[in-house]
Amino acid sequence: NAETAMYVAKDSGRNTVRFYAQVMESNIQERMWIEEELDYALKEQQFRVFYQPKMHIATGHITSAEALLRWFHPVRGLISPGEFIPIAEQTGQIVAIGEWVVKKVCEHLTRSTELGLPLLPIAVNVSPKQFQHPQFIYKLRQIFEETGVDPSFVEVEITETTLMDNTEETLNKLLLLKQIGVRIAIDDFGMGYSSLGYLKRFPVNALKIDQSFIREVHDESTAAIVTVMIALGHQLQMHVIAEGVETEAQLDFLRQHGCDEIQGYLLSKPMPLNEFRDFVRKNYGL
Ligand code: C2E
Ligand code: MG
Ligand code: MG
Ligand code: MG
Repeated sequence: NAETAMYVAKDSGRNTVRFYAQVMESNIQERMWIEEELDYALKEQQFRVFYQPKMHIATGHITSAEALLRWFHPVRGLISPGEFIPIAEQTGQIVAIGEWVVKKVCEHLTRSTELGLPLLPIAVNVSPKQFQHPQFIYKLRQIFEETGVDPSFVEVEITETTLMDNTEETLNKLLLLKQIGVRIAIDDFGMGYSSLGYLKRFPVNALKIDQSFIREVHDESTAAIVTVMIALGHQLQMHVIAEGVETEAQLDFLRQHGCDEIQGYLLSKPMPLNEFRDFVRKNYGL
């Protein structure tokens, strides 16, 4: 990738500098390709919403799930959100894509009720540009009205970056969301650069500890940080969720330290809707 190329370029002469330029150019071409294809992706229904369950540690119950976007390109195959979400965020395409995700999730919720499934809250990722869009809340309400979904079954996952920005307007939006009944979670908690001051200011329901901390939780100092994060969330009356839980050892640690919920490959990878429904049926003995 470009970063490695730059590193190598520093070390060894002219040829590598040219190589770096080529990498940069192909990165730009790749970005342009994605930007162009994203416009078709929505129209041609290349997106799918996958679901990854979250489990309440104390009871073993599936309590909710996170909606994660998947892009199946007719030629390139599966393109991961890590590749296209940052670009969609920069170009503003995320606004339309994000709206589509919320709509799909609400349609799925309505259908799940019709199918007699236990209704579980679904968390939707909202990027900074989506959140800051002037029509964000208006669009949400419109979707709730159209689909008849109770807003308290939708949770919005935002990152610390969103909370760091535009504070007065951000606060008002969060208060409005709370008033509507939408739940709010801070995603990737611990990865931002902000002070902890915003935590007392904003009406947040849940903290999601970033998976980088969980991955290293066998390490003594990381374990100390995670312990404090869990206590901090609880002191502030928040729900604490650990992301990226892959091993029994990690789960044991989290259980011992009173973490509320886990999400991760140990429980399940993100799944297509039908598989997710089967998973829920099984968990509820249906
Ligand atoms: P995120 O919201 O922090 O989602 C968690 C990511 O961790 C997901 O990657 C999930 O598949 C992955 N993951 C879950 N459990 C494990 C585990 O045990 N081990 C490991 N190694 N990974 C695990 P994914 O689906 O590739 O999504 C990446 C990011 O893209 C998300 O991070 C989120 O920031 C963004 N994203 C995904 N869907 C949407 C969307 O609909 N809208 C927006 N704005 N962003 C989205
Ligand atoms: Mg998330
Ligand atoms: Mg996360
Ligand atoms: Mg993330």
